[in-house]
Amino acid sequence: MNFEFDEEHRILRDAVREFAEKEIRPYGKEYDEKGEYPWDIFRKAAKLGYVGADIPEEYGGSEMDYLGCAIIAEEFTRADSSIGSAVLTASLGCPMVRYFGTEEQKENYLPLVVKGKTPSAIAITEPDAGSDVQAIKTRAERVEGGWKLNGTKTFITNGSISDWVVVLAKTDMSAGYRGISAFLVETDRDGYEARRIKKMGLNCHDTAEIYLKDLFVPENNLIGNENFGFYQLMRFFNESRVFVGAVQLGMAVGAYERALEYAKQRKAFGKPLIEHQAIQFKLADMWKDIEAARLLVYRAAWMIDSGKADPAFSSAAKLFASETAVRVTYEALQIFGGYGYSKEYDIERYYRDARVGTIYEGTSEIQRLIIARMLSGKLRF
Ligand SMILES: Cc1cc2nc3c(=O)[nH]c(=O)nc-3n(C[C@H](O)[C@H](O)[C@H](O)COP(=O)(O)OP(=O)(O)OC[C@H]3O[C@@H](n4cnc5c(N)ncnc54)[C@H](O)[C@@H]3O)c2cc1C
Repeated sequence: MNFEFDEEHRILRDAVREFAEKEIRPYGKEYDEKGEYPWDIFRKAAKLGYVGADIPEEYGGSEMDYLGCAIIAEEFTRADSSIGSAVLTASLGCPMVRYFGTEEQKENYLPLVVKGKTPSAIAITEPDAGSDVQAIKTRAERVEGGWKLNGTKTFITNGSISDWVVVLAKTDMSAGYRGISAFLVETDRDGYEARRIKKMGLNCHDTAEIYLKDLFVPENNLIGNENFGFYQLMRFFNESRVFVGAVQLGMAVGAYERALEYAKQRKAFGKPLIEHQAIQFKLADMWKDIEAARLLVYRAAWMIDSGKADPAFSSAAKLFASETAVRVTYEALQIFGGYGYSKEYDIERYYRDARVGTIYEGTSEIQRLIIARMLSGKLRF
């Protein structure tokens, strides 16, 4: 067992860190206030192969392993919680196409994202169905030459800025999760409308409600097999949850490092904060939780790379890293005192941005349910 990066990953980490420090960190506050998607940073990151980095070279990607993707994610949100995650989530729609799409779909749609032309999206959640995916009501009916889609999707990352979105819809209304299929929907089709949603954090992310009204897609826009969308989604989550874990890990690291630096500079009762034991204990706990989260995220990434992806590990990585990010950003803000609550420092943004980690990509409660369901096979270590 080796707990150190090999040469390749170390070089990647250094290169990504250099990029993130120069191109992401200085602009966090500005983009948070503007509330605009960071198009120029997305394009620069794509040019260097950091967007959808695991996508094979034949579709324009860098063909990196999943540990490499986790390293990119951690460095991006370490530099800035909002811009970092906005750029990283540009590839959200890609895995469904990459794993289940036709050759034509892969060739036509994956390069658009990895080359920085457009972000992508995946639309699962609806106003009345979030955790309970099988309760979605968006419907795809067969019509001549293709499908007609009707329904509303909500909280869709990149929903109003992407050229294409993967939409999960019911193709058999009576079959529960066995009646769901995935469709590739180009957003310039008639019947596609999106409205941006205002949020507490991740202000430079595009998060949208999507309305599909008699939207026609041709037969060949079905992704994978009819009625297999739910199973495809489970495969998607196995990887995406590790990625989100890495995104949240980076936020925890970014907040911790800023708090550590502040604790060294700021004085109270005649000595730096860091010399007060109560502050030392906070920092010790933050550091310990970050190291534990990193082990889980890297292990889950390694399992994917080794062909041993395991839903319990993916869920555990996402669960622990996101709850760590929430705790660490809370304590970091506390260490900053009143300045933590002001817009002068980055910490209030990290605190707001990290909060969603225990909600999206499956809530903490759902991750615990998944882990609990897998426990019978994991009672022995
Ligand atoms: C910023 C942001 C970006 C998002 N991006 C996307 C995206 O790109 N695509 C997409 O499809 N969705 C996206 N979502 C939606 C997100 O995945 C859902 O919000 C999430 O899955 C929870 O669904 P819900 O909000 O409907 O909550 P609900 O499912 O209604 O849950 C409400 C509460 O009940 C709990 N709960 C539900 N069921 C159970 C149970 N069986 N046992 C115990 N507790 C339970 C939940 O954990 C939660 O605490 C995004 C959300 C946000 C906020």
